[in-house]
Amino acid sequence: MKTEFYTVTDPVRDREILARAAEIIRQGGLVGFPTETVYGLGASALSADAAAKIYAAKGRPSDNPLIVHVAKPEEAEQIACVPPVFYKLAQKYMPGPLTVIMPKRSCIPDGVTGGLDTVAVRCPAHPVARALIAASGVPIAAPSANRSGCPSPTAAAHVLRDMDGRIEMILDGGPCEIGLESTVIRLTEDGCEILRPGAVTEWMLSQVCDVVTVAKAVIDPSLAGDKPLSPGMKYKHYAPAAEVVLVDADEAGFAAYVRDHCTTEEAVAVSDDKAVEFAPLRVLSCGMHDTAEEQSRTMFALLREADDRGCKKIYIHLPPAEGSYLALYNRLIRASGGKIVRIGKTH
Ligand code: AMP
Ligand code: MG
Repeated sequence: MKTEFYTVTDPVRDREILARAAEIIRQGGLVGFPTETVYGLGASALSADAAAKIYAAKGRPSDNPLIVHVAKPEEAEQIACVPPVFYKLAQKYMPGPLTVIMPKRSCIPDGVTGGLDTVAVRCPAHPVARALIAASGVPIAAPSANRSGCPSPTAAAHVLRDMDGRIEMILDGGPCEIGLESTVIRLTEDGCEILRPGAVTEWMLSQVCDVVTVAKAVIDPSLAGDKPLSPGMKYKHYAPAAEVVLVDADEAGFAAYVRDHCTTEEAVAVSDDKAVEFAPLRVLSCGMHDTAEEQSRTMFALLREADDRGCKKIYIHLPPAEGSYLALYNRLIRASGGKIVRIGKTH
């Protein structure tokens, strides 16, 4: 299959391209498209055959359900049984990087939800994503547009690398602003539980829900078990070919460890404002400054760059498992296979 590739800068000006992409979706084909979190691999959420093509293109295990994307929060009603708290969450955080799991309606085939009787619903904020869903006239099932197990794509070039010849079309809407996948929650009697952390944080959810809990497997993936609340928890994820060495230390301890261990075939991930401290080692940039937002935005591209540059190992300072760093922490421990080098700490 020849994969068509188009740059879409303005959904109105580029409406003919979007109309063609929407036609592919309606016909049961696959389109890679930008969202504010990572690039998605979209297909009609109303077709089991189209969903099956997503699993085949990604090499994704068929019990790992897909997130279904809608153009407006109220369209969730068409695919899920929506409780009032959804609208409270929607008012504050949608469109945006929040996915809510709810009981599914029968129009969503089992092949989309991995056989579960629930469906994960998200309303993305990216204008190209919203325009594509609206033009398609169907909800769009979309996981991240990477080969299963590889770092998620945060630029159209990453999608092309993983999916060229496997899907009908890729829409390039520029680099993703957030860079990590959406927060996934399930609703509980008195609030919600975070199954996958993202840019909508525990604190932000606590502005709407009385009780917000974080699933144990978010911090320690080994606790996911065989039948986790979210099937994605049990799979190895986000891993580059390079070995990810996470170092849990203070700043001085991290720098000393890296200087002692990092060879010329390896690299260290640091923000630009710290790079000079690590010369002459090979440095991969995780943003201009050492903030959760910058590191989140750049981390997946950095992991891919490590492979492109043939790095055998990449040393990364372990972020705290809390607040706006929690999503980054969760992706990094999974990319490292759970191995952490602890320095000067007793636990
Ligand atoms: P991805 O599509 O790569 O962003 O991954 C989607 C994530 O959402 C995976 O971790 C899935 O396990 C999770 N997910 C999707 N649908 C459900 C559902 N119905 N119940 C629980 N988790 C879900
Ligand atoms: Mg994914």
